[in-house]
This record gives sequence, structure tokens and C-alpha cells, in this order.
Amino acid sequence: MNFTVLTLFPDVINHYCNASIVGRGQQAGLLSVNTVNPRDFSGNKHNRVDDTPYGGGAGMVMMAPPIVSAYESLGELPANTPVILTTPAGPTFNQPMAKQWADAYSHMVFLCGHYEGIDARVAKVLPNVMPVSIGDYVLTGGELPALCMMDAVSRYIPGVVQKADSVTEDSFSGEQTLLEHAHYTRPAEFRGHAVPDILLSGDHAKIAAWRHQQSVHVTQRYRPELLPPE
Ligand code: SAM
Repeated sequence: MNFTVLTLFPDVINHYCNASIVGRGQQAGLLSVNTVNPRDFSGNKHNRVDDTPYGGGAGMVMMAPPIVSAYESLGELPANTPVILTTPAGPTFNQPMAKQWADAYSHMVFLCGHYEGIDARVAKVLPNVMPVSIGDYVLTGGELPALCMMDAVSRYIPGVVQKADSVTEDSFSGEQTLLEHAHYTRPAEFRGHAVPDILLSGDHAKIAAWRHQQSVHVTQRYRPELLPPE
């Protein structure tokens, strides 16, 4: 998988993506992350990439030409390459989308907005633009949303997460519609809190049943709408 991020803040993207599991995935050649800065395509001596909104109103709008030129500098991409337009005004990203994207695409482009957002004509001019939100709140820029989505997609690229089971057994993943159960590791007792005895029993069937019961309990408490209808 090749990720290309059009961003005014390439360091933010690169810093995260060079670390931890995504960084290891890059080192192993399983994925790549490249950034292109629309400011390098501003075409004006002050490197301006934003302007006041037509019709008036607060805030600035990111201009279309630098973004479209930045995209065009990428050259030919696979025909189905999606351009994910990060915006609160789009369908909400979720785990099935992460899996579907990982299966469907070999290259993805992410557009990171700032200020009031991106001139709407970018979505008309670029191919395969998909507006996507990461949730019902507003951030200052599209870098964190792009990173969230790239990270979630990366986990589905074979080899990126060492133990494949940990991907299919996570909350929202595979057959799993419930939130995940609690986890424990050493020490067996910490500040008066002991690990549940069942986890020390070695009885795998009982442990699986206990974990399922815990999943139901956590889901009931925090996200009851995820429980299957009775
Ligand atoms: N004026 C926009 C609105 O009301 O929908 C908000 C713009 S926001 C301050 C600036 C940029 O941050 C957006 O263009 C987008 O790239 C990113 N952004 C903010 N919140 C987001 C979210 N929940 N999901 C995806 N992108 C978001």
C-alpha cells in the first residue's frame, strides 16, 4: 500500500508514520508514506495557499490550484486510487471501511484541509474524491484524521501487525461486533487488584467464555446499540 498525503504540515505525518508499527511496516517494505506540500505549488511569491471566502464569512479557504497542482505532480496513479478528502462534513470512517480500503487499493491519497476547509472545486476536478469524517467533532486540520485512517488501514496489510489474530479479534473487527474484553498482564496483583482467577486457570474454553461475557458487559455499558437484537 502506498499512501500519499497532501498536507501543509508534512512533518506531522512523517513523524508519526516513521514510528512504531506503521514505521516498521515501512521499513519492511509493506507500505510507504509520502507527503506533498501544496505550498510548494502556490505559484506566488508569498507561498499563499489560502484566501478569503467568496460570499464572506469567517476564516480562510484553501485554494484549489495549489492542491490540484500538488496532486498532478504525483503523475500516473492506479486508476481506482481514491482521494480521501478529510472533512467533518462526510460519512464517518469505521472499521469495515478500513478493511475494505486495504483490500481494494494499492495506493491512497489523503487531502488535509485547514482553516475553513478546501475550495469545493477540488472535489470536482480530482478523480475518485471521497469526503470522509473521523467523527462528530471539529479539529484544526486534516492531518490527525488522515493519520487515523492510514493507521487503521495499515493494520489490515498482511505482515504489518505481527499476530494476525489480534486484528480479527479486536473491537469491531472480523466476526466481532462487540467491544473487546479487558486485558491483563504481569504482575498478577497490582495495588490490591488481582488478575481474575479464571485467566490463571489455563482452561482455554472457560477463558474464552469469560472473555465473551466481559465483551457483552463492556458493550452493554458503553455502546449498548452495538449489541445484537434479542
Ligand atoms: N469548516 C469546516 C466545517 O465546519 O465542517 C471545518 C474545517 S476544520 C476547522 C479544518 C480541517 O480539519 C478540515 O478541512 C478537515 O481537513 C479537518 N477536519 C476537522 N475535523 C475533522 C473531522 N472530524 N474529520 C475529518 N477531517 C476533519
